[in-house]
Amino acid sequence: MRDVTILKKATFDINNDKTITSSEKKKRIKKIEEVIAEKNLKKRYSKLYDMICDYLDKEFQDKNICGFKDNLCSRRRDMIERGIIKDTYINGCCHGYKENADCEHLGEKGCTIKNIACKMFVCPYLRKKGIHYSFKNIYFVKYFFNTRQKFYMKHTFFVDKSVVLEGILERM
Ligand code: SF4
Ligand code: SF4
Repeated sequence: MRDVTILKKATFDINNDKTITSSEKKKRIKKIEEVIAEKNLKKRYSKLYDMICDYLDKEFQDKNICGFKDNLCSRRRDMIERGIIKDTYINGCCHGYKENADCEHLGEKGCTIKNIACKMFVCPYLRKKGIHYSFKNIYFVKYFFNTRQKFYMKHTFFVDKSVVLEGILERM
């Protein structure tokens, strides 16, 4: 889509969204304008990448999606309660059952890289509770990303932004 078409379509969609306040509408349209103002594709997609990460981080934090308490997420606490013994249970899905080890990117303050697939992932335990994320939840994604790019972002785990960004640009 050409930039002028994106802005027209996004403005129409956002203004007709009855689920958000008028200040949220203004905020969203301003964001789209900021993205469009960036004409360098790499910088534009870098900005979009960060916007997706910020959205997901905020969702998971504000809604306490994984329910961590003392490094144990809600799924692992449920497994302990049901007596399912697999490993030490700490650090949620950043700790692998098979290797019985933490992901190499897990630091003291959490993940040290920026990966959309990891941020978007929810386990079967949460899915059963009706929690899941897709790019449809993120209002601006449909204007800038094609199907191949979305599939790639959703399935490329454990690598940093620079790698995923390259893959996104290769799939334009
Ligand atoms: S997605 Fe599930 S397994 Fe992973 S941290 Fe969240 S609750 Fe735990
Ligand atoms: S890359 Fe994924 S699995 Fe590894 S620490 Fe980061 S969020 Fe966890």
